[in-house]
Amino acid sequence: MQRPRVVVIGAGLSGLAASYDLVRAGCQVTLLEAASDFGGLASSFQVEGAAVERFYHFICRSDAHLMRLVGQLGLGSRLHWGSMRTAFFVNNKHYPFGTPVDLLRFSAVPWVQRLRFGLHIMRSRYRSQWRRLDQMPGKPWLIECIGEEAYEVIWHPLLKVKFGDYHDKVSAAWIWHRIWRVATSRRSLFERESFGCLDHGTATLVDPLVAWLKAQPNAELLTDARVEPLIVRDGAVTEVRAGGRIIPCEAVISTVALPALDRLIPGREEGYFRSIRRIEYIGVVCMLLSLRHRFSQNFWTNINDPRISFNGIIEQTALNRNLRDRGLHLLYVPFYLPTTEPRYSAKDQDLFDEYTGMLRLINPAFRRDWVKEWHVFRSPYAQPIFTTNFADLMPSHRTPIRGFYVTDSTQFYPEDRTISAAIEQGRKAAAMILLDRDPA
Ligand SMILES: Cc1cc2nc3c(=O)[nH]c(=O)nc-3n(C[C@H](O)[C@H](O)[C@H](O)COP(=O)(O)OP(=O)(O)OC[C@H]3O[C@@H](n4cnc5c(N)ncnc54)[C@H](O)[C@@H]3O)c2cc1C
Repeated sequence: MQRPRVVVIGAGLSGLAASYDLVRAGCQVTLLEAASDFGGLASSFQVEGAAVERFYHFICRSDAHLMRLVGQLGLGSRLHWGSMRTAFFVNNKHYPFGTPVDLLRFSAVPWVQRLRFGLHIMRSRYRSQWRRLDQMPGKPWLIECIGEEAYEVIWHPLLKVKFGDYHDKVSAAWIWHRIWRVATSRRSLFERESFGCLDHGTATLVDPLVAWLKAQPNAELLTDARVEPLIVRDGAVTEVRAGGRIIPCEAVISTVALPALDRLIPGREEGYFRSIRRIEYIGVVCMLLSLRHRFSQNFWTNINDPRISFNGIIEQTALNRNLRDRGLHLLYVPFYLPTTEPRYSAKDQDLFDEYTGMLRLINPAFRRDWVKEWHVFRSPYAQPIFTTNFADLMPSHRTPIRGFYVTDSTQFYPEDRTISAAIEQGRKAAAMILLDRDPA
């Protein structure tokens, strides 16, 4: 059976995983990436000679698809786990927030609601049905289960950090899965959550995948190759244009975010494409500070303080021992918001001045001269807004266009967007191409 020629659009982990399987199955694969490096949202750059992720990443024990690929590439020994401290900064006070004892001591919330919060985590941990939750908005569901103050103090900042002003639009199903993912990353009820990371972050996975693909005679990888709007003839895409090249193909996988897909394949009126247009995304502006000293004892600090504009900070080197041993102290300050808001395109220096002032409120010992270098990264489609009844909007991998397949982080729902889920979707789309060409 002649294997199809496949073009994969986007070299994030979804595109890389899809290409890996297709190349192994004998397909001729061309992987086209608009940026000048590989990895997409999981890409890295150099800080003091070490590969550092543009956006922070942690791994949970339920991230099976990531672990499977890590195992296949012989990288198992480079995946490390650690029991992580998480905390809340509220009412100008730090509260540890990782164990049942921490929860009992969390005096920012009335004690009955602390108990209700704990019970809700337990119930969510053992729940598996989510369809009914898909129809319910998350905020009233949480308030009913844990109480108003517990919602305002604990969940409000957690949802704000991820969804910005859309925090009260998110469905209960998404929130449930988020609780489940983190709760199942705990070995026992009395321990802290244990999170994983690769020793050089996602570069540990992206670089070997790229190197393997580049070494295969039936794979071609191009960066700085933005794919132009696709032309559909007789219901199929038969060629892809990028970087002045025309690449003939029998199948195409798009791994770009849905709003970018709408530009890639404009003017389609099928229900599939109309649904896609109803899905909203927000962007992220994420500052990375490389510090002389550790900022705190925590991996993740949620912030609920009217003086501070951001709702969480992530000290990645609390998790990544390898980078810490190289003398790095890396602090990420994410801020999710629609790209139309002025803050999305605020001057980097203004954000730096604002954030460094606010970081002093959290740790009064912090000084601006702790900062060795800093960077601001932006992504316009960082997070889909998972509204109620989202399951009805979720696009399938197969599209109305013959030979054209789509992967996107909305297809993970109710799972959060993760690198593991991106790998899973890429591999699923690759398997569909092989199945559709060779049903036997
Ligand atoms: C701030 C932040 C924090 C995160 N934290 C975590 C975490 O802790 N744990 C976790 O597991 N996951 C995390 N994620 C999610 C994870 O990074 C993503 O789910 C995953 O990397 C998505 O991979 P992808 O291949 O689906 O998409 P992408 O990485 O977005 O890849 C799509 C690629 O397509 C390219 N492209 C777009 N248009 C074109 C075009 N016209 N032509 C050619 N190429 C094009 C883009 O440049 C990009 O490289 C985080 C994401 C963000 C933004």
